[in-house]
Amino acid sequence: MTPREVPLDKIRNIGFAAHIDAGKTTTTERVLFYSGRVHRVGEVDEGTATMDWMPQEQERGITITSAATSLEWRDHRITIIDTPGHVDFTVEVERSLRVLDGVITIFDAVGGVQPQSETVWRQANKYGVPRLVYINKMDRIGADFYRVLDNIRARLGVRAIPIQIPIGAEGEFRGIIDLVTMRAFYWEDDEGLIVREADIPEDLAERAAHGHDELVAAVAELESHSHHEDEYIRTGTLSAEHLQHGIRAATIAYKFVPVLCGASRRNKAVQPLMDAIVDYLPSPLDVPPLHAEQPQTHDIIEIPAADDQPFVALAFKVMTDPFVGRLTYFRVYSGTVKSGQTVFNSTRKKRERINRLLRMHANRSEELEYAHTGDIVAAAGLATTRTGDTLATEQLPVLLEMIHFPEPVISMKLEPKTKADGEKLLEALDRLTHEDPTFTMRNDPETGELLVSGMGELHLEVIVTRLLQEFKVAANMGRPLVAYRETVTAIARDEARYVRQSGGHGQFAHVILEVGPLSGEEFAFENKASGNEVPRQFVRAVEKGVKNAMSNGPVAGYPLSHVRVTLVGGSWHEVDSSDIAFEIAASQAFREVVARARPVLLEPVMKLEVVVPEEHLGETIADLNKRRAEILETHPEPGHSRAILAQAPLAELFGYATVLRSLTQGRGTYTMEPALYVEVPKQLSETLVARAN
Ligand code: GDP
Repeated sequence: MTPREVPLDKIRNIGFAAHIDAGKTTTTERVLFYSGRVHRVGEVDEGTATMDWMPQEQERGITITSAATSLEWRDHRITIIDTPGHVDFTVEVERSLRVLDGVITIFDAVGGVQPQSETVWRQANKYGVPRLVYINKMDRIGADFYRVLDNIRARLGVRAIPIQIPIGAEGEFRGIIDLVTMRAFYWEDDEGLIVREADIPEDLAERAAHGHDELVAAVAELESHSHHEDEYIRTGTLSAEHLQHGIRAATIAYKFVPVLCGASRRNKAVQPLMDAIVDYLPSPLDVPPLHAEQPQTHDIIEIPAADDQPFVALAFKVMTDPFVGRLTYFRVYSGTVKSGQTVFNSTRKKRERINRLLRMHANRSEELEYAHTGDIVAAAGLATTRTGDTLATEQLPVLLEMIHFPEPVISMKLEPKTKADGEKLLEALDRLTHEDPTFTMRNDPETGELLVSGMGELHLEVIVTRLLQEFKVAANMGRPLVAYRETVTAIARDEARYVRQSGGHGQFAHVILEVGPLSGEEFAFENKASGNEVPRQFVRAVEKGVKNAMSNGPVAGYPLSHVRVTLVGGSWHEVDSSDIAFEIAASQAFREVVARARPVLLEPVMKLEVVVPEEHLGETIADLNKRRAEILETHPEPGHSRAILAQAPLAELFGYATVLRSLTQGRGTYTMEPALYVEVPKQLSETLVARAN
């Protein structure tokens, strides 16, 4: 095994999250620009008079199209995982949150917390991801650090503690005061490469002292019972070093969120943000160890972050690179992997050879011989691996927890224009479904039609555009249709036997199932039968049989979801019982028991965030009310606008883009994402049932 270039504790896997336009791209570009090209001379702690970054005359040709871009900063390797700016593609956010260890949330110093930044923030909460806040665009007219800070505290309910305060604002924004070291830093050249360190200016002395005290108190509070406490009690303050320690611990434990500020486009105060990534965000060693399922025993085991362990990785993005072909990005959680090695895709139970291993940088890709624990790299050569799959070894084919991908809510028929298009279409769709697990395709077994499904009209539109432009496939598309579901509303119990006696040995399986409604999750399966009734080795087959039967519900043939299934008993035969017999018996039992558990139709309800100018608020709400919408909240937005948060059935929202445009003279914007499934009103249900029969 080759030694690692960067020790594990010096790895930072991070992402930038932001409302669209808050400056994610600009900030990422600046971070890439400053890395590698610049040296830091003198340590702040040693009291060196200036922090000095050497300018280098180089082309700026920075491109960031990669799913994960690596850079070096202060002997650390920072890998930036691309997160989408548009929350319509929720799954993209979810999947990047799964593989990163820390997030920098960027807010606009004028706009503050916008609906989308709130959504992204809550998603990060779900995974407990440690965060920094960066208030960007301090140079904009109307920029107000303290107002945005209040706004963040109030809207996001988070303990946000500044570790910097701005020097000036708007056109006068010149630099920051570091509240840890209590020094001022000024950016004076256009490229922001020269940083001048100075005493805190007099007019900000009081503010800085107040900020410093607040920071010290926040750290001291969390650090009680430690040696810092004594220092704090004795001196009323903490040394910069202790403070830094405390901030790091608090950030990683998500006890508070450090707040920084800057103006990325003006090249001001970006380097301290990079320092904060290194100083305060976790390395792979600082985050709780991951758990995985051992498929043979179903035991849950811990995956230690160490090079000398068996290889375990998560493929989080499949994309097609114009030069290298299909690239599979993965994060190594444990062990190492070598270029040319055959790994085991434990999700699909397939061997896969890694032809090449690549690390992506801003403007080049680096060929690697090895990838180590904590690394995020891309592999060429993986043919069957899809987004969300676990890569491991045949000796230890563990399964990492699946990324939770919401089920598609909308479907559409696709018909190739010519026979040649037909083949290309299948190939293109295959590739797209590999890249995006929320996009699915299937052939309707009855009509032979090709159905594609996704997360919303916009999602399907984007895919059709890609089919045309990237894959040059011409296809006719049908109208988008709601992907209805079915569920049960009562608890019921039933059983089925599968018995065949034909020559040799026969088939025997007997299962007793109970089903009931389930909220929150799509499906849960539990085994309460004793080993005498159904031996453990057949339980998987029972679950599989149930899952197969779920694709076709009793009301109108839509897939079932939100169902809890319990295997409560059964019997078996020493010779005649087999997986297949249990699978069939389980499918039968399930179909019978579901029919008795008062099945109903469900429809997807979307969460909507509509932003309209004040004067159009009334009409917009009136229109939403006509669409069976429930208005949850409205609040003011910058620029005399109002945001409406609402939920409405997808069936009522087709073509909403056009509707909103005409209601608001093109000034309204909205985002929507699937929120939940609810029971279809009776009248509509009758129509749907009649249509199905
Ligand atoms: P993204 O959508 O979050 O990736 O945002 P971009 O980085 O594309 O930035 C959106 C717009 O804001 C662009 O026009 C940027 O030039 C501008 N912008 C980014 N950072 C700053 C900043 O610090 N100050 C000002 N005034 N504009 C900025």
